[in-house]
Amino acid sequence: MSSTPPVPPVTRAGSLPRTESRLAALDGLLFDLDGVLTPTAEVHMRAWSRLFNDFFAERGLDAYTDADYFEHVDGRPRYDGVRAMLGARGVTLPEGTDDDSADTETVRGLGNRKNAVFAAELAENGVQPYPGSVEFLDRAIALGVRVAVVSSSRNAVPVLEAAGLRDRFEVIVDGAIAAAEGIAGKPAPDTYLEGARRLGLTADDCVVVEDAQSGVEAGRRGAFGLVLGVDRGVGHQALIDFGADVVVDDLGEVTGALGPVRASSSPATAGSAAPRPAAPRGTVSPEARP
Ligand SMILES: [Mg+2]
Repeated sequence: MSSTPPVPPVTRAGSLPRTESRLAALDGLLFDLDGVLTPTAEVHMRAWSRLFNDFFAERGLDAYTDADYFEHVDGRPRYDGVRAMLGARGVTLPEGTDDDSADTETVRGLGNRKNAVFAAELAENGVQPYPGSVEFLDRAIALGVRVAVVSSSRNAVPVLEAAGLRDRFEVIVDGAIAAAEGIAGKPAPDTYLEGARRLGLTADDCVVVEDAQSGVEAGRRGAFGLVLGVDRGVGHQALIDFGADVVVDDLGEVTGALGPVRASSSPATAGSAAPRPAAPRGTVSPEARP
């Protein structure tokens, strides 16, 4: 049996000591949601499958498969995914409008039906957050770090509720807020900057935590204090290339880098939505920065 201590599994372009010192110094964490806190892609895949299985079966078309998902739907905006998938089966529907009900046989009606099926999937089966992400999040909260969710999804709040994480976050900037306020989406940095602003922090004070190329690019373009990539399949090098300072496979790898939990810290405060005093820890205050 070896007495060698386990090597921290952070071996990417960024170095662990540098990441540790920066994580311990920064005051805010801005989390992407889908793929960072929750494996939401699985819920979306089930919802698309329910939608198209029913739709194709009613018309005697070839059954919908996972391969269809990756070829025609994955990564596309919802209505684009509907249009592409229908086209692959030779089906053309009128485009319709965003207001079309879920019963309407239009591209946008089917897209809205998919959203309804997604909500039903969430309600019926929930979504389990990544354990390492919850560990990291709760350590940060216990240390007084301010936390926000910055997601392109209009379903961010129901997903957070289904995952049991809604109460952890005092600030949520989601797709609905971005649309209502005309904030440019990722890879523009604007939604992350809005998250920092709503926490009362600057970009330099904050860590962006992202699993998507567009998200780490937003972090780089916004000049955030640290861009922490989480590799759920994009690949370490791609995340580095697009803007991550360091990449991990699971946030649990860097929980310790946030710092030890103090004896006086209580996770019981984690559910509070009350604003925490800014910069309660660390030695780097905004005033001390150049
Ligand atoms: Mg994501």
